[in-house]
Amino acid sequence: MLSEKLLKELNDQIKYEQFSANYYLAMAAHCAAQDFNGFANFFMVQAQEEQFHAMKFFNFINEVGGRVLISALDEPKNEYTSLEEIFTLALEHEKFVTRRIYTLMDMAVEEKEHATISFLNWFIDEQVEEEASMSDILTKVRRLGEKGEGIYHLDNELAQRTFTPPAK
Ligand code: MG
Repeated sequence: MLSEKLLKELNDQIKYEQFSANYYLAMAAHCAAQDFNGFANFFMVQAQEEQFHAMKFFNFINEVGGRVLISALDEPKNEYTSLEEIFTLALEHEKFVTRRIYTLMDMAVEEKEHATISFLNWFIDEQVEEEASMSDILTKVRRLGEKGEGIYHLDNELAQRTFTPPAK
């Protein structure tokens, strides 16, 4: 059985993952309003991933016999000035989430909660990918600038992204 403290932090993580989904939807909405439909698609798929992350925590807490509690979410930032700002904020946000996962892992290790450690390992790996993907696109946006053919091609490339839930 999870300690009260660990259970609370795992419940909080549902909130952070759901907030991430809303944050990325707000970014998707901005991109769509600027006719960057591929970028909008990228963030809509990202939002689906975050919702999937939230459900992984939801299911894990239930499986180990904890009580899931759903919290209110803060309103995400809705207004942005550029794609560069969006990807800078998205990368910062993923770094924040990585620190959250590390905090959870530290706590699970301290409490010798091996099932939770095993569960969190998936998120440790996932965060490496999340940061790399935001960082990669930020670099491209900076190189290409936000007008002209290059960004048009990147927008088309990002339009191809689809959500595929991992097998496990
Ligand atoms: Mg996430």
